[in-house]
Parts: sequence; C-alpha cells; structure tokens
Amino acid sequence: MPPTPRDDFDALAREHRADRFHDECGVFGIHGHDEASHIAYLGLYALQHRGQESCGIVASNGREHTAHRSMGLVADVFHEKNLNRLEGRHAIGHVRYSTAGASLIRNAQPICVNTDGGPVAIAHNGNLVNAGAIRRELEGRGAIFASTSDSEVVLHLLARSREEALEDRLIDALSRVKGAFSLVCLTDDALIAARDPHGFRPLSLGRLDGAYVVASETCALDLIGATFVRDVDPGEVIVIRRGRLRTLRPFARQETEYFCIFEKIYFARPDSNLLGHNVYAFRKELGRVLAREHPVAADMVTPVLDSGTAAALGYSEEAGIPYETALIRNHYVRRTFIEPAQSIRHFGVKVKHNAIGGFIEGKRVVLVDDSIVRGTTLVKIVAMLRNAGAREVHVRISSPPTTGPCYYGIDTPTKEELIASGHTTEQIREIIGADTLGYLGLEGLRQVGEKEVKRGFCDGCFSGCYPISMHAGETVPQLSLFRALEEEPER
Ligand code: AMP
Repeated sequence: MPPTPRDDFDALAREHRADRFHDECGVFGIHGHDEASHIAYLGLYALQHRGQESCGIVASNGREHTAHRSMGLVADVFHEKNLNRLEGRHAIGHVRYSTAGASLIRNAQPICVNTDGGPVAIAHNGNLVNAGAIRRELEGRGAIFASTSDSEVVLHLLARSREEALEDRLIDALSRVKGAFSLVCLTDDALIAARDPHGFRPLSLGRLDGAYVVASETCALDLIGATFVRDVDPGEVIVIRRGRLRTLRPFARQETEYFCIFEKIYFARPDSNLLGHNVYAFRKELGRVLAREHPVAADMVTPVLDSGTAAALGYSEEAGIPYETALIRNHYVRRTFIEPAQSIRHFGVKVKHNAIGGFIEGKRVVLVDDSIVRGTTLVKIVAMLRNAGAREVHVRISSPPTTGPCYYGIDTPTKEELIASGHTTEQIREIIGADTLGYLGLEGLRQVGEKEVKRGFCDGCFSGCYPISMHAGETVPQLSLFRALEEEPER
C-alpha cells in the first residue's frame, strides 16, 4: 500500500477521530529507593508543564501495587497521607493533559491491571496511531476496555501475549503498535522503560542514591538531585530488577529517527536537555535565525511570556534591539474563572497578560512567540499593545506556520482550526492586527534542528511530512516518500 499523502492523512484522521487523543503527557519511574513514591511525586512536579489535567502514582512493595490517581495538579492531588499509603521501593507516575472529550478520571494514568504474571502498571507518553484498529479487533474478540485511552491497548496485548516473562510480553505488545511511545512499566519487582524505534518523545535515565530513575525530561532529574546517565535510545527497552539494569534492543534500529521538533520549540521545559542539548539555547538560536530572516527597525523586542522568552532574547541579541518585558503574565491562572455579570473588555486575555502601560507608548515593538495555533492569543495581545500606545507591532514567530495537527502526542487542534492551514501569512497578519508578521522558515528550522538532532526529526505539523501512517497493517513509510508525494506537481 502506498504511503498516505497529506490530505488523505487528514481525512483518515477524521475517520479515526477516536484514535486522536491529543494526550500530552509526562512520565516518571524510580526503582530501588526507600522514598519511591515521594520522589515520584517530586519528579511529576517538575513535569507538570507536560500535563495539567490528571496525574497518578503507582508504587510496588515487591508483591502488590497501590495506586492513587486523580484529576488535578500534582500539588493538589498528592499530600503526605496519600503518598505514605503508596508503599514500596519502586514507583511510576504520570501527568496528563487531554482535550475535553476524553478528560475523564478513567483515562488518568498509570493504568493498572492484574495479569496471571502479577500486577502490571504502565504510564505512557505519545500517541499510538493504530490503537483504534487494534482496539476494534480486540473488542471483536470479546475484550472489554475500561478507558478510551490508546495506552490501554498495550496492556490488553501484554495480557494476551504467549511469552513467559512480563518484559517479553510487553515487548510483544509494543511490537504490534505503531506511533509514539515513551513509556514506563512497573511489575511487582521490575521497572521497565521503553521508547519507540523512531524516538518521537524524550525519555532519560538517571541515578539517585543507588536507585535508577527514568523521566520524560531531565528537569525532573535535576529537581530530585539525580545524576543524568543517558537518554533511553529509540527502540531500546530497559529492564531494572534487583538493582541491576539490563538493556534490550528488540526493535530494529531505524535509519531515520523522528524526534519531535516541537518538544524543542515549545513543549519541553527550557532547563531540560533533549538529546544532550539544552532547550533554552536551542530556542535562543531559533530567535537569532528569525532575526536574520525577518529583520525590522524597532525600539524593543518583547516576548509572549513564557513561550516566547528565549527566542525573543535571541532575536534581540542578533538584531541589536533591546529586550524588554513589556507584558507581564499572571502565573496563577486556572482554566476557568468567574467573570462578573457586566463583562469587562478583553477580560480573558487580561487575566493572563497585562501590558506595562507608559513603557510601550510611542514605541515600535517586536513581539515574539514560539507558535500560532488558532491565533486567539495574538489577536488579543497585539490589541493590548496597541491600547497601551505601541506605535507599531511586528510579530515574529520562532517556528514555521503550523499547518497540520500532530498525530504523535502534541495537542494541536484539527487542520480546520489551525489558522495557518486556511490562511496565508498576509491574511494572518491582518487577522491578528500586526504591522508585519514573520515566521521562521522551514529550512531555517531544519538547519538549526539538524545541528542537534543528528538522526532526524519529525516536523509534520509544519511540513505535512508525517512519518508514520495510520493504515492498519501498513509498514512504516519513508519520510522521503512523503516528500516526493508533496513535490508532485498539481494535476
Ligand atoms: P493560539 O492562541 O491558539 O494561537 O495559541 C498560541 C499559543 O499557544 C502560543 O503562545 C503557544 O506558545 C501556545 N501553544 C502552542 N502549542 C501549544 C500546545 N500544544 N498546548 C498548549 N499551548 C500551546
């Protein structure tokens, strides 16, 4: 079967709507520590930016699991009492964000089951593009699913595997799924960490007081005082049991990897190192390239906090225009707030951002953010700067136009909702009310990306080159084939 071209891919995604869970997640695991659940709690605390809707920890005392999962932020969900109840020297944890439809406690992770080989819990980051097809197949054979999460498919496959050892059963299950997974799995006595052969999502290994730790990002290792050992390799499965680490490479190493470039652009915390390189430095470099690609005469460069900060600094340094924080962000904003009956103009955006009045008056401002999704943030912020007296507002975006959704674990909306999928840059400039608008070019992004991500990355949300198709049973097509399809002249 030929690889899926871009538009067909989107149609398929619509057809398989249930397969798109938009799960943005962070995972953490620790093996062999007296305070395992407390350390997992801290690890999740550092990974909170990867998911704010639900969280959970499962601990093992070597025989059985205890779990606590709830909707809400890590700091609100966990307290001394429920952490003390999570007994044992091994634990895994998960933070999750999903769009409203699947925002249910039954989708909170880690997911726990009892198998004939003992208790098993998994916490998964990434989206499995063939989860829906496998689920339908299993349901047809009588399986009952407790959640709508794609991760549960892995547990069902594991439970049905004919292999002996639980790690072999997990590998068997993982060899049937397609897409992105960086996951941690807890059995009664082992912690297993696995990363898909294409390495879409990050996963790092560390050590703490003789214990092994795995985390989505190195900022979690920093918080608990763990030493970074190395990243889990794409296609690698690590089994930690009785203080010993065994590494397995059951999946064929792929020539090209597809690390998600959006992790570096926006999603990961700037103090994390991804693939051995600091995220903050990467974003600054994008800002520098952006300044070279889209120069403008201005009095100040200011970011949309916090997402545009590093790129704005890079832009400012390269352009020689002073960096100023002209907009202040309230960091304590929740998703919903009670608005007074008499509505206040621009209330929504003012809850989150406010301009420093007199400071902006008469100035030509370069406003930098990492990306435009629907365009709503910038419409409001550009208006806010103008209300504060800005003479000119020049918007600069440190990534290319987001023209397609992500199918591998970043929450971007459908193509129809993405402003850049249906509008030209000039039209977007008009909609957001900016004097000029400049996006980083795809080539510019690729040049910066290639310096750090040597074995290849996925930029499907910008380029439309999706490396893994959703056709059931189809083998992984090569990215170059997508490019070839893209370059075909229009008929
Ligand atoms: P919008 O207002 O819809 O254009 O969203 C743009 C803002 O959302 C930017 O400030 C981005 O930093 C931020 N953003 C981009 N991608 C995501 C994402 N997947 N989840 C949450 N925020 C995002």
